Amino acid sequence: SVPCRQGKFADLNAFISQTLTHRNGVPLFETDGQRDTTRFTLSKKNRLLAVKDNIVTNSLPTTCGSGILRDYRSPFESTVTDRLRKAGASINGKTNLDEFGMGSHSTNSHFGPVRSDCFEQRSVGGSSGGSAVAVAARECDVALGTDTGGSVRLPAAYTGVTGFKPSYGMVSRWGVVPYANSLDTVGVLARTAKDLFRVFEQARGHDNRDPTSITNATLQRMKEGRLRATVKARRSGSFRKMTKKLRIGIPMEYNIEELDPGVRQAWKNALEFFQGLGCTVVPVSLPNTKHALSAYYIIAPAEAASNLSKYDGIRYGTRNKSSDSDDDILYSQTRGDGFGDEVKRRILLGSYTLSSEAIDNYFIKAQKIRRLVQRDFDRIFSLPNPLRPPEQFDLSDMDESILLSNKLGPSQVDFIVCPTAPTLPPTLKDISKQTPVDSYMNDVFTVPASLAGLPAVSIPIRIPANYQISEAPAFAGIQIIGQYSDDRRVLEAAMMLE
Ligand code: GLN
Repeated sequence: SVPCRQGKFADLNAFISQTLTHRNGVPLFETDGQRDTTRFTLSKKNRLLAVKDNIVTNSLPTTCGSGILRDYRSPFESTVTDRLRKAGASINGKTNLDEFGMGSHSTNSHFGPVRSDCFEQRSVGGSSGGSAVAVAARECDVALGTDTGGSVRLPAAYTGVTGFKPSYGMVSRWGVVPYANSLDTVGVLARTAKDLFRVFEQARGHDNRDPTSITNATLQRMKEGRLRATVKARRSGSFRKMTKKLRIGIPMEYNIEELDPGVRQAWKNALEFFQGLGCTVVPVSLPNTKHALSAYYIIAPAEAASNLSKYDGIRYGTRNKSSDSDDDILYSQTRGDGFGDEVKRRILLGSYTLSSEAIDNYFIKAQKIRRLVQRDFDRIFSLPNPLRPPEQFDLSDMDESILLSNKLGPSQVDFIVCPTAPTLPPTLKDISKQTPVDSYMNDVFTVPASLAGLPAVSIPIRIPANYQISEAPAFAGIQIIGQYSDDRRVLEAAMMLE
């Protein structure tokens, strides 16, 4: 079950109904097509790079935090690290993670959990927890992570740093060990959004070795689409609104009862900040959010089960030596020893939901939910989705309650601002008592953007002293989510907020 009852947002209605005027009189953002943002090369301040250990480099081992890859060294370099090295980055280490990226607290690694000296008793988030801690502890300037369902944003939120998941396909996945290919993205963690921007500018771009990498022609078409939207808005008289008065959406479904009061306060402060700049804050509805988590935990394990089948001790993976001479047990012993419990759980889940008996009820349904989640976002963003024209598809077998909730009217916004996680970092003791499903709940606010492939950044927002908890950063992660391919404006918004 997914937390979905709505909580109280104190005086939210009062403050969303205020219309503040634009204070400084200058456009907040340049829209795409008017100005091409200057390309940065990495400066001295953002050269030292830590790399999550599921991204291959030819100079260091790549273990994916897994026993089955404990001896693996890649003969080639990933596109993203190659590009960053060419831009001046030097890699100072590979960082620990939840095995193959599966987890939310970085406690599922073959090499032991990621721990932070400052906040020893608490979760650092996962699965890119090692990258987040390396940034927070200043062991590097910036770090690469991967974000399939929140693995860059959640650790950023729990360690008080910024973390960015780009639009799906913007950064090449060549050399990134797949967890769930249709969701995997390479993200960046840094201490400031400006550093994220600089690194992202170097990392992005088409790569013909990744079949899901956005082509230059598509990138160009997206840019033209945004330009057309701008011109149309200018004609209809709302151009001013687009450049000077951004509309920020607050998804009401994210205001759940379980939301930590400190997180809610940080959320409110972030919204008030944008209002103070002249933006209009409006409530929006993303009705399928409540189904997103369940859909994610069907799709991701299904893809994972398929991806991980190649680790058999023959084609890939360290072979269990004692089973070497016995073909019957080679496969089961190698995989039994090599994979940790969470990975095995995902393989079982995925294999079941893909089985002929369950596929219609689980995998196919989850794909439909995924499409509904994408449509929720497309409906509320003022920019059109350059990849998905409005379409019809067969929903005849979906519950009526799901279809009814889709009929809510449109509300056009530039960004969505919402918490990254419902709570502040839990203690490791509490986590050890949780069921796997409890820990899946941490991803409730991050998976919707993943299912829709949207760019999302998590920014640390200070929590008032009376809401702070011991041994944790004095910040809560707040996300800014934008329309597909609107990555730069999302980062520009983050630069203003931090
Ligand atoms: N916690 C999520 C999972 O375990 C997300 C992981 C990720 O983004 N790599 O699947």
